[in-house]
Amino acid sequence: MTVDSGTICLKIQVLGIVQGVGFRPFVYRLATEEKLTGWVRNTSEGVQMEIEGPEPSTSAFLRRLQEEAPALALINEVAAEPCPPRGATLFQIRDSSFEYGKGQLVSPDVATCPACLAELMAPTNRRYRYPFTNCTNCGPRFTIITDMPYDRPSTTMQSFTMCPECQSEYDDPLDRRFHAQPNACPVCGPSLNLVDAQGLPVASADPLAKTSALLTDGAIVAIKGLGGFLLACDATSPQAVNLLRHRKHRLILTLRVSTAR
Ligand SMILES: [Zn+2]
Ligand SMILES: [Zn+2]
Repeated sequence: MTVDSGTICLKIQVLGIVQGVGFRPFVYRLATEEKLTGWVRNTSEGVQMEIEGPEPSTSAFLRRLQEEAPALALINEVAAEPCPPRGATLFQIRDSSFEYGKGQLVSPDVATCPACLAELMAPTNRRYRYPFTNCTNCGPRFTIITDMPYDRPSTTMQSFTMCPECQSEYDDPLDRRFHAQPNACPVCGPSLNLVDAQGLPVASADPLAKTSALLTDGAIVAIKGLGGFLLACDATSPQAVNLLRHRKHRLILTLRVSTAR
């Protein structure tokens, strides 16, 4: 491969919260828009890339890398140094590289984004009412990460094999779920389960409706969410509230409305 004499090659290292926030897809799109070749990958301490092409594209890339970074990214440092042009013909997302002893910042879990909420509520969408809907802009991160670099095999999602539809979203650089590690749907992802105090399954066609009915009946339900359990009961039922306080060893208060003058 011959290399044009006006070609510039830069090796760039970005540190901060740059994994699990759609950073590699962003770099991929940016490089493609600027008609640059090269590669990007996650490392144990951040994101590393090489870009190759003419000026002013390389300078524009460096500027836009910081100005247009994904909303959830937090860039602490960008280090760029020249390297010999490789004559690459396209831009690739490479496999992550692991280096023992290196650390980095981890993204927190992020609340469901407006685009995912719209899908969740759309009866014709394949994720209609699917509680684990997420994308590159939202969803679990810290809770599911078991190791860095942040890739699906290093998360608790590794046991869920994506269905063909989810996989094609994951592989499409123009899709909102491109490399979204927790990507899931009702066909291939986790599902809601209701179990009793002994951990045995409670038979029901709709665990959500059943939970709602149990709460109305005065039961206490532990709802497992991102990062922990939420204890729920009917707050208007003195019996349910007192039972929860008793189990949690909290002070049981009896409120009386004073009629004294
Ligand atoms: Zn989303
Ligand atoms: Zn799926």
